[in-house]
Amino acid sequence: MDTRDELLRQGHLACPGCGLAVAMRLVLSVLGQKTIVVIIPSCEAVISATYPLSALKVPAFHSAFVIAGATASGISRALKIRGEDDITVLAFAGDGGTYDIGLQSLSGAAERNEDFIYVCLDNEAYMNTGIQASSSTPYCSWTITTPKGKREKKKKLMDIIVAHSVPYAATATIGYPEDLMEKVKKAKALRGTRFIHILAPCPTGWRMKEDLTGIVSILASETKVFPLYEVYDGEIYKITKMPKGLPVRDYLSIQGRFSHLKDEDIEEIQRNVDREWERLMYLVKRNEKA
Ligand code: SF4
Repeated sequence: MDTRDELLRQGHLACPGCGLAVAMRLVLSVLGQKTIVVIIPSCEAVISATYPLSALKVPAFHSAFVIAGATASGISRALKIRGEDDITVLAFAGDGGTYDIGLQSLSGAAERNEDFIYVCLDNEAYMNTGIQASSSTPYCSWTITTPKGKREKKKKLMDIIVAHSVPYAATATIGYPEDLMEKVKKAKALRGTRFIHILAPCPTGWRMKEDLTGIVSILASETKVFPLYEVYDGEIYKITKMPKGLPVRDYLSIQGRFSHLKDEDIEEIQRNVDREWERLMYLVKRNEKA
C-alpha cells in the first residue's frame, strides 16, 4: 500500500505492536476516502484523535459509548435524505462497546437492517481504561478485574448478530490481511447492516511481546480458537480459511494473560474449542445439504 493513500496517518497514538491500529488501516484502505467513521470511547478513539488533532483522513463522528449503532443509523439515513448514496458509513467499536455497553443499540439497528458497516475491533477487554474484563474476555484470562482468571466464557457475539438475519456477518484477523480485506470488500458491495468481527491482539493487555501480534493472530485461527468464516442472511455459513487444528496451547503459551494456567485448564479450553468448532462445522454442512 502506498503510504500516501493511508487513511490512518503516521503518528497516531497506538502502543507499539497494536493489532487494532493495523485492523483500522486495513479496513479503511478498502473502504477509501468516501467513508464517514463513527467512533465511540475505546482504544480506537484514543488512537485516532486527541483533540484538536486527528490521525484519520476521513470524517469521524465521536459518539457516546452506548450508541455506535444508533449514531451510524442516523448518519446513514441523513445521507440518504440528501441523496448521497456513494458514502459508506462505518462504525468502529471495541468489544466493550459492542458485547456489553452498546449491544442494545447495535441490536436495534441490525433488526431494522440499517445501512452501515459495523466493525467490532475485539481486543478482549477494556484496554484503554486499564485492562478490565468484558464479556468478550476469554475463559481463564487474566485481567485486572479477573486476577485469578475469568470464570465466565466469552460471549458468542456472532451468534447474536446472526440471529438478526443481517445480510453479511464475518470474522477476520490481521494475521490473514487478504482474507480480512476481501471481507470488507464484500461488505462494501452489499447494503443493510453488515458486521465484521475482527480479533485485534493487544500486546499491552495480553501481556505479550509487541512483535507477536501477527503470530498470535495466525495462531488464533489455526488453533480454531477464532475461526474465520462468513454468514450470509443469517443462514449460509462459509469457512474462509480452514484451520490446521494446532493445539490451543500454542496460542495460549505466548500470552502472559494465560501464564497462570495449569495443564487441566488448558485441556478444558481445548475441549471447549473443539466443541465450538464441531458446532460451526454443523452449521456449515447444514447449508451444504439444503
Ligand atoms: S492498549 Fe492495546 S488495543 Fe489499546 S492501543 Fe495499546 S496495544 Fe492497542
